[in-house]
Amino acid sequence: MKRYDAIVIGAGHNGLTNAAYLAKAGLDVLVVEKNDYIGGAAVSRELYKGWTYSNCSYVCSMMRQALHRDLDLSRHGLMLIPYHGTVNFDDVGNTLVSYHNEEAAYLELKRHSRHDADSMARFQTDLTRYAQLIRKTLLRTPPDPTSFKPRDIFELLFLAKQFWALGEKEIYEYVRFFTLSAADFLEEYFENELIKQAMASAGIIGTALGVYSPGSSYILLHHVMGDVDGSIGAWGLARGGMGAISNAIAGALQSYGGEIRTNAGVQQILVKGGRTVGVALQSGEELYARVIVSNLDAKRTFTQIMDKNDLPPGIYKKAKNFKIRGSSGKVNIALSGLPSFNNVPKNRYINRGGQVFTGSMETMERAYDCWKRGRWSDDPFIESVIPSAWDPTVAPPGQHWMSNFIQYCPTELADGPWTPEKRDQFGQTVIDKIERYSPGFKDLILHMEVRTPHEIEQETGLTEGNIFQGELTIDQLLFNRPFPGYAQYRMPLKNMYMCGSSTHPGGGVSAACGANAAREILIDLKRPNTVPSDDFYDE
Ligand SMILES: Cc1cc2nc3c(=O)[nH]c(=O)nc-3n(C[C@H](O)[C@H](O)[C@H](O)COP(=O)(O)OP(=O)(O)OC[C@H]3O[C@@H](n4cnc5c(N)ncnc54)[C@H](O)[C@@H]3O)c2cc1C
Repeated sequence: MKRYDAIVIGAGHNGLTNAAYLAKAGLDVLVVEKNDYIGGAAVSRELYKGWTYSNCSYVCSMMRQALHRDLDLSRHGLMLIPYHGTVNFDDVGNTLVSYHNEEAAYLELKRHSRHDADSMARFQTDLTRYAQLIRKTLLRTPPDPTSFKPRDIFELLFLAKQFWALGEKEIYEYVRFFTLSAADFLEEYFENELIKQAMASAGIIGTALGVYSPGSSYILLHHVMGDVDGSIGAWGLARGGMGAISNAIAGALQSYGGEIRTNAGVQQILVKGGRTVGVALQSGEELYARVIVSNLDAKRTFTQIMDKNDLPPGIYKKAKNFKIRGSSGKVNIALSGLPSFNNVPKNRYINRGGQVFTGSMETMERAYDCWKRGRWSDDPFIESVIPSAWDPTVAPPGQHWMSNFIQYCPTELADGPWTPEKRDQFGQTVIDKIERYSPGFKDLILHMEVRTPHEIEQETGLTEGNIFQGELTIDQLLFNRPFPGYAQYRMPLKNMYMCGSSTHPGGGVSAACGANAAREILIDLKRPNTVPSDDFYDE
């Protein structure tokens, strides 16, 4: 019977990245995926003829450029398209456009508040400085602060050095920053409500926190620490949808000789004598390998595909209590034409960039209150993008695909389980809100794909539909991710590793978790490292 060097469970972009680096080192690697397609939450699918939706993730910024270059993803078909011109809408008809051009951006802010226009440079400098520190950790394995191993001490000193380099005042600010709410943090820079809410929205995307919840300022940072081609904080689109990222990584993996098997869901990880030895597929087939790597989230890995009796004491409980709450919905819409929006000039690029329907801080907080009570708000926060306005490959000429990301949508409803009817009502709430800002919008709709956390979990296996494979709160970051003592990608059983977004540096399409895990596996197998360091050619 064939025995692989490594079996990676799940063909999410991190699983594929992990496998690619192991294959590049000459290992015999197999990726097994439950779906009949690859990509997990970084996927493009044609569910309506002629339209390619990025069904889950839709914009790109966190992808580590060092990995993009090293895996030669452009040669494997990946092309990133920067986009700009997002318009924020409040409840009473005001708009705020985020222009790319510095002068236009300043004048737009000044239209609302001269004070805030002047503060923006300070805000961006501070945020970029905070982001740069985190960026330096993305392609590194978190140190174990309780260990005296030379590598852990070196990594701790590396972190301390970055921290001290901030300077005395900034060190205090940085520590405060991690525990502040997005609202409190922004209060220190801005006075205008629309500007504050536009900036605060990044603090709630994908998270079960509100704009006033302590810790939401870090989520804000998590969303601005990426880059597109070196422009920090910028977001872009992957031509052909986010699946183009996974497909390109899969192309790299296959070019190094790695294999992918779809329709190969894992029922259970096989354990013998305290070490993982293989996997049993849902079909009953058993496959064996020296190393087993899970791309699944920490909760699913330890509570669904492992026998509790195979786990050392305490791990099952840690996994069960891992904070992984679903809070987001996604609505993909095929449109017969480009919608126009109230108070936004037609035929300008800002009409086709992004639309953020924030309403007000209160509107966003009320939507969070609804989520806590097991329902969705009738006035939800929506972040929309029309990728087809920048990428002609995702919709037929003259027609469009609009991606809408909604905060908040509960995993469990107070009035009983999700049903197709309730899912459709949720979708209706979303289009009712957009219609308020874009009269005639509903007449353009040709097809809608509505996803609540329920559908997200069913399709991607993301527990509760949590988009980050676990909340990004300080208790679950860096050396605490996924659990204290297990942040170095090695799990409590011998030969077992994790490589998904439940590990450092967390969710988002960065490929960093998969690459970091590969480096640790190669160390343990005494193979030369194939994973590059972040090169920061751009800073
Ligand atoms: C709706 C939504 C919107 C998002 N928007 C963005 C965005 O715009 N930008 C961004 O950067 N990030 C975004 N994210 C987050 C980002 O997509 C994820 O954090 C990231 O894709 C997770 O990648 P992963 O490889 O770690 O795991 P996953 O993508 O979760 O991959 C896990 C894989 O394992 C497979 N699997 C599950 N169970 C089994 C089993 N038993 N056997 C075999 N295979 C199995 C799954 O099918 C899947 O392919 C979004 C996520 C969602 C859900």
